[in-house]
Amino acid sequence: MLKAWFNIPLWQRVIGALILGGIVGYIWGPGAESIKIIGDVFIDFIKMLIVPLIFFSVVSGVAAIGDLGRLGSVGWRAILLFVITGQIAVVLGLTLGTIFQPGLGVDTSMLQMGSVPDPAPFDWREMLRSMIPVSPVGVMAEVKVLPLIVFALLVGIGILLAGDEAGPVAKIFDGGTAVMLKITAIVMELTPFGVFALIAWVVGTLGLDAVTALAKLVAMNYLGCLLIIGVMYVSILVFVARVSVIGFFRGMIDAMAVAYSTASSSATLPVTLRCTQRNLGVSKPTSSFVVSLGSTINMDGTAMYLGLATLFGAQLFGVTLGWEDYFIIALLATVGSIGAAGIPGGGLVMMGAVFTAVGVPLETIAFVAGVDRIMDMMRTATNVTGDATVTVATASMLGEIDKGELASADDV
Ligand code: ASP
Repeated sequence: MLKAWFNIPLWQRVIGALILGGIVGYIWGPGAESIKIIGDVFIDFIKMLIVPLIFFSVVSGVAAIGDLGRLGSVGWRAILLFVITGQIAVVLGLTLGTIFQPGLGVDTSMLQMGSVPDPAPFDWREMLRSMIPVSPVGVMAEVKVLPLIVFALLVGIGILLAGDEAGPVAKIFDGGTAVMLKITAIVMELTPFGVFALIAWVVGTLGLDAVTALAKLVAMNYLGCLLIIGVMYVSILVFVARVSVIGFFRGMIDAMAVAYSTASSSATLPVTLRCTQRNLGVSKPTSSFVVSLGSTINMDGTAMYLGLATLFGAQLFGVTLGWEDYFIIALLATVGSIGAAGIPGGGLVMMGAVFTAVGVPLETIAFVAGVDRIMDMMRTATNVTGDATVTVATASMLGEIDKGELASADDV
């Protein structure tokens, strides 16, 4: 029995769990909340991996890259792709919001008001300082991904500069990465159970009235994300990375399912790392660096949604927006998606600043917060797929990918 279970490739077990979870949640209703604990335990286990996995793998990745020039060429290519895709995503959100007008004709009496998180003010000085790992131990204790990457990069560069003298230290990080990847493999066996419980909980406890009232917004959120994945990422995979699209999605299905059910890019990071390395054939140095960085600064689903939601709020409250407002929204939605934390509702926190800048009432956040989870799940799956797409494209430009492995991506 156990053998039969393990004989099924993990991605098939995960997809099965996703579908079954949806059915069980639909039949069970709010009672499905009682199994959410299984999902929470799963998330706790993958969160446990984030700090040690990033730290070991980014340090050993940078050390393995061998020279700083090469690190620079990986870095600027990835960041350029992050910026371009983010911009296209925002424009898409604004276009969908303008054409389909999701904020018109909403019956607000049917909405279930969600709690409004404290809006995050955009202060570039604060953002800059938050990237500096003042206390590396504190950064690890608080699981702050961006300053952790900065610290890991510096340790890796230090190892490079120290040369032979740092040999034993480099070995420790290589060994540490191997160990963490093995632990990731063990934890990933929990994926079907975690995904099943989380999806059952979401579907069972969904306020259907609220979703119906916001059906257009929810539909636009899904359509926007599907266009980003199906058109933008697929084009990058075909024309820039020149890899097998089917191989890519087959190799990424676990990470996409985990992202969809947990609504957290950060929690999915260990799975994304493993998928890009093992299933997509990206070299360890490139994948550890680009995927980790992408998980915190590259959020195309969130960027698209921030643009869309601002137009939604403006339409709901009858605020007229001029061309200059569109530019402000595009700019702030991009900054917001970079600054958003890879946690459930991370994008919601960023809405306040965009809304305030163009005069959209903050009450809009309470209206959308009630159904945010169902939209967040799709945004997160998009964000994570975007990280992997850019990783594969960057690796392909630099010859850091084994395309044969990607084409035959089978199981994790
Ligand atoms: N939950 C998303 C993520 O982790 C961020 C968002 O709320 O859009 O990527």
